[in-house]
Amino acid sequence: MNCIFCKIRDGEIPSKILYENEVAFAILDINPMNFGHVLVISKNHYKDILEIPKSEAADLFSAVQLISKSLTEALNLEGFNVISNKGEIAGQSIFHFHFHIIPRYKNDNINFVRSLKKYTDQEFQEVFQKINQHIKK
Ligand code: 5GP
Ligand code: ZN
Repeated sequence: MNCIFCKIRDGEIPSKILYENEVAFAILDINPMNFGHVLVISKNHYKDILEIPKSEAADLFSAVQLISKSLTEALNLEGFNVISNKGEIAGQSIFHFHFHIIPRYKNDNINFVRSLKKYTDQEFQEVFQKINQHIKK
């Protein structure tokens, strides 16, 4: 499979691994939004967040949390963003699951565009119902 993250995992593309556990490894993003931008990548090739099996979710999350704490201490951070892009429309460019951990600084000009929409009461009810019907209880 022609996948950059599989190649990094297999050592076919040389890279410095910051951290790894059973299910995940972490590297610096090659084009950081801020210095210290880390990618936490699943070892297995899953396309995106929807393919991650429950059995790997806890160890993936704990890798994210461990890196987040280390970044906070190392770079003296006041905050960071954890995101995972799902689908091209959301900005995903590598279709092998990963979380971004992005250090944030005052006036760093990073904008995760937050266009604020307003619900009418009816729209809120409708949207709630629509989603809720698909949640397996
Ligand atoms: P996505 O756009 O899929 O959410 O994130 C992919 C990320 O991988 C991008 O932020 C991009 O800069 C990073 N990236 C792409 N190629 C490489 C690479 O060869 N090495 C590293 N370390 N990061 C990469
Ligand atoms: Zn892959």
